[in-house]
Amino acid sequence: MRKLEKEYDIIVIGGGHAGCEASLASARMGARALLITSNLDNIAHMSCNPAIGGLGKSHLVREIDALGGEMAKNIDKTGIQFRMLNTKKGPAVQAPRVQADRRDYRISMRRVLEKEKNLDIKQDLVKEIIVKGKKATGIKTQTGIEYKGKAIILATGTFLRGLILMGKVSFPAGRMGEFPADRLSDSLKKIGLKIERLNTCTPPRIEGKTVNFSKLIKQPGDTPPPPLSFSTKEIKTKQIPCYLAFTNDATHKVIKKNLRDSPLITGEAKGLPPRYCPSIEEKIARFPEKKRHQIFIEPEGRDTTEYYVNGFFTGFSEEIQLEALRTMKGLEKVKIAKPGYAIEYDFVSPTQLKPSLETKRIENLFLAGQINGTSGYEEAASQGLMAGINAVLKIQEEEPFILDRSEAYIGVLIDDLVTKGTKEPYRMFTSRAEYRLILRCDNADQRLIRYGHRFGLISDEDYERCQRKYTQIEEEIKRLKKSRARTTKRVNNLLKKLGTDPIKEDTPLAQILKRPEVRYRDLVKIDDEDERKISSEVAQGVEIALKYEGYIKRELDQVERFKRLEKKKIPSDFDYSRLEGLRIESKEKLSSIRPISIGQASRISGVNPSDISLLLIYLKRREFE
Ligand SMILES: Cc1cc2nc3c(=O)[nH]c(=O)nc-3n(C[C@H](O)[C@H](O)[C@H](O)COP(=O)(O)OP(=O)(O)OC[C@H]3O[C@@H](n4cnc5c(N)ncnc54)[C@H](O)[C@@H]3O)c2cc1C
Repeated sequence: MRKLEKEYDIIVIGGGHAGCEASLASARMGARALLITSNLDNIAHMSCNPAIGGLGKSHLVREIDALGGEMAKNIDKTGIQFRMLNTKKGPAVQAPRVQADRRDYRISMRRVLEKEKNLDIKQDLVKEIIVKGKKATGIKTQTGIEYKGKAIILATGTFLRGLILMGKVSFPAGRMGEFPADRLSDSLKKIGLKIERLNTCTPPRIEGKTVNFSKLIKQPGDTPPPPLSFSTKEIKTKQIPCYLAFTNDATHKVIKKNLRDSPLITGEAKGLPPRYCPSIEEKIARFPEKKRHQIFIEPEGRDTTEYYVNGFFTGFSEEIQLEALRTMKGLEKVKIAKPGYAIEYDFVSPTQLKPSLETKRIENLFLAGQINGTSGYEEAASQGLMAGINAVLKIQEEEPFILDRSEAYIGVLIDDLVTKGTKEPYRMFTSRAEYRLILRCDNADQRLIRYGHRFGLISDEDYERCQRKYTQIEEEIKRLKKSRARTTKRVNNLLKKLGTDPIKEDTPLAQILKRPEVRYRDLVKIDDEDERKISSEVAQGVEIALKYEGYIKRELDQVERFKRLEKKKIPSDFDYSRLEGLRIESKEKLSSIRPISIGQASRISGVNPSDISLLLIYLKRREFE
């Protein structure tokens, strides 16, 4: 075996969304980093939907951005359609979603990686993790090269023993057209990690010139386009529309007739699929009463006529995919450019990880992304960033960086994974977070930028800009609480026009803004003093803070209670077997998960409140011993 001279601080395996963030964070924190991936041309490739953000996911992207990650900046540079979803609902669940130019996104991210001075990028397939004692010390590749690393981050996506299934056909692959990583999966088993199986699927891509767009419903982007990164001032690129199509009786007939062709229905595809992103055949089988399903026809990029058929995820053979697609209005003559397919793959059940994403069994080995049982680019990138930060902190012998459930969706994601594990591909939803009014998309910078700045991932300039923004918000709130609208005819006529009651006495502007019918922009007309220039993001911050003041305060009280339990730490060497009175099931669960706090212990399924009381008493006693 040849040994390369060069040794690295951090080695990241896999150039997907997790690997990109992990390697950038490591290098930007000053570590000498290597990103090794099986195909350099597929760095940051979007295996499925060419879009970033959406419900729950855009919260993660904004948090990545606030911590100094790259995903939001990259999609702002390469997006082709920007939309804000859920605008009719409250601010906690509004979410930007950006349609990407798939190829540009890849190229742009690769350029960022190539420019990073502490980062080397290599193409090779890793086949083994080198472990000495209980520590990961390096890797071996398929071409026979060994690299030494102080910490290793595994971010291999769906590639571990990947198997593609299309109808009755199946073949090994990490993704369509790419090698699977079978030997690496064996290596992980050998070092004692428990591996399980999951599956997912992707829809066909079709040739745009064979679609009759005049029969579809056009879906333009928003004006102005809402960016994902806090540092993007404006999106100037021209937007491209998406289109809406529908399945119908004929589509459902084709699918029902051929259900047994799909490995997702016959059970041939091992492991569970993502429950919230079912294949079209599962949708038709599960909801036979539904007369039609929405199908979004989304452009793959500016320089291609290929379209992604969102909503038509499938494991059918190509013939059946084509037959079903051609039943839809506008797609009567459609041709498939790339067929959809299902894929099953190995993942490492995530309860084997610490909240820092380091494995409990092997020191200095970190795991991030789909390998941990998640699904989605945003979920992967969040974990990549956290694994990158934590791997560097580990080799610097610093405390790990752990976000709790009240600070970030990233905290919710990792806590769910390492505390509860997952049996199906895990994706983020706003409903997974307890403190949704605090964890909003718009305030991710307020919540997290100080950490990004502390780790050197956020520039002084960006940090100061954020500070200025929140100072302005605070000052404006104070002003609105003091300034009053006068009971003039002009003011009351304006209020009437907005559909809200006139005022009978001079009233603080803050009070008026709290009314559901009144927006911040309306105050300008009421407010005699208003000659200041307030940016739209400051205006949004003021509006949310005032309109939801009571609810936010209530949630902050709940967070305080939550924090009290999170602060009660459990020593990492705590011996649960000695704890008298604890049920056997709880002993087993607690010994295997090894929660870091009473709060985390209370979220383990099967551990009940009486177990927690016992644990609290025991820890208290230990304190005085
Ligand atoms: C068919 C399919 C359908 C999907 N459907 C959905 C969906 O509906 N919704 C959704 O949200 N997400 C979906 N996804 C998942 C989404 O693509 C992933 O969650 C996301 O890309 C995971 O990011 P990652 O960084 O963990 O891994 P990936 O993006 O998969 O990247 C892994 C990287 O590791 C590299 N690699 C792997 N093994 C090795 C090795 N041994 N040595 C060197 N390099 C290696 C690969 O080349 C690749 O670059 C789908 C994925 C696939 C393949």
